[in-house]
This record gives sequence, structure tokens and C-alpha cells, in this order.
Amino acid sequence: MRMIKMVKDEMVEKETVKDKVWTEEELVAVNDELESKSPQEVIRWVIENFEREEFALACSFKELVLLDMLLKEKPDARIFYIDTGFHFKETLDLKKKIEETYKITVERYEPEVTLDYMEKVCGPKLWETDPDKCCTIRKVEPLRKVLSTLKLWMTGIRRDQGQTRANIPIIGWDRKFALVKISPLATWSKKQVWDYIMTHDLPYNELLDNGYPSIGCEPCTHPVVDGDDDRAGRWTGHKKTECGLH
Ligand code: SF4
Repeated sequence: MRMIKMVKDEMVEKETVKDKVWTEEELVAVNDELESKSPQEVIRWVIENFEREEFALACSFKELVLLDMLLKEKPDARIFYIDTGFHFKETLDLKKKIEETYKITVERYEPEVTLDYMEKVCGPKLWETDPDKCCTIRKVEPLRKVLSTLKLWMTGIRRDQGQTRANIPIIGWDRKFALVKISPLATWSKKQVWDYIMTHDLPYNELLDNGYPSIGCEPCTHPVVDGDDDRAGRWTGHKKTECGLH
């Protein structure tokens, strides 16, 4: 009888934790707590506090460190990507490899607007004439749609990836998309990422070996030279430095 009560209490407690609606203030406190934790501990915090359907990892198919860590903790975790229609062949090859290696299906989301229709309405090469608009149509709006179904999204962004990311929290309220955002690798360095890749023999995007430290859509991603900021090859010739997701 006592055992049944304990199990019931545990279930009620679990339900209460997972039903919780996090306030911005609470997330600041959680962030302080997670600052000194390893990425795996941060991931475990997510699994303890959110149901499977409530969170997902946004994958950019550059390297697989976070994906590998997440799937080791939760093999059925949700992984998704936005198919802008402009991914490099190397990026899509890596997606296929991930699905075969981990035996998962990466959820695919796409813009409502086809490339033909976008060209008809906005003119040719929108990524050159108005990259902000192009990103809004092909990345931000599809992402908004996915995130509206979630309570938390997980990203692989890090503080050492450039000025615009230098102060990102590990966890916080994402006001733009109205849900919790968590970046378990925020405090990691590029060296730590590569050490993990080598130690665990993980596949990675071949473009990383060819001068592309940051990989996005093909028309807007160029190789960089040594000493450049990792994101210097994105939207070269434009003031734009982020696609509007982060
Ligand atoms: S990165 Fe370039 S091609 Fe991709 S959505 Fe943004 S502007 Fe368009």
C-alpha cells in the first residue's frame, strides 16, 4: 500500500514538473545553475523537465556533437531541420548519413512558398537583393511554425562563434518565438567540439575541411581565411550576420 502511494506521489510530482510553465525569472535562476554543468547534464535537465513531444533539437548538419549527446541520453529524441531549398549537397549527404548511422528520421519542415513562386513575386535572387526577406520566408517563418508546437527548442550555438553570440545564455525565454530555448554547448570552445568529434569518431560536414567553419544556404555561404570570425563567410557583402533564428 505504502509502495503504491509512493509511486502515485512520484507520478503526481513528475506530472507537476513536466506541466510546469517556466517564467523568465525562473529561467534566469536555472541558467545560473546550469552555467557550470556539462552539456550532458544540461540535456538531462531537459529530459527531466519536458516530455519527448515538447522539445526538439534544431539541426544544421554541420557537426553532430549535440545530436550525438542527445541521442545517447534519449534515443527517440526529436531532431528537425528547415529545408530552405538551398542546402549544399554535402549537408544533405550528412543528413542521410545521420539517419543511417543513428537509425532515426530527421523531421523536415519547409517554407510555404516554393522557390518558383518566390522568384515570381519577389524577383530573381532574393538572397542577393533582400537577404533578410529571403531568410524570413525560407527560414524564420517555417521555424516559427515548428516552434509553435513545442515548449522548448535546443540549438548547438556557442559563445565562441562570433560577437553576436558572445553573450548567449545556456537557457532562457526566447521572446521572438515564445518558448524556452536551450543551448547546451554555449560554454564550449571549438577545440572541445573537435576533441569530442575525434574521441567519438563522429561524421561531420565535409565543408568544414574546405574552409567553411559556418555552413548555411549555398548562395550565402563562402569560405573564410585563417583568422576570420567563423561567421565571416555568411552573407558576404551584406551587413547581415544572423538569419533571424538566434
Ligand atoms: S541564408 Fe540566404 S538563401 Fe538561405 S534563406 Fe537566408 S538569404 Fe535565403
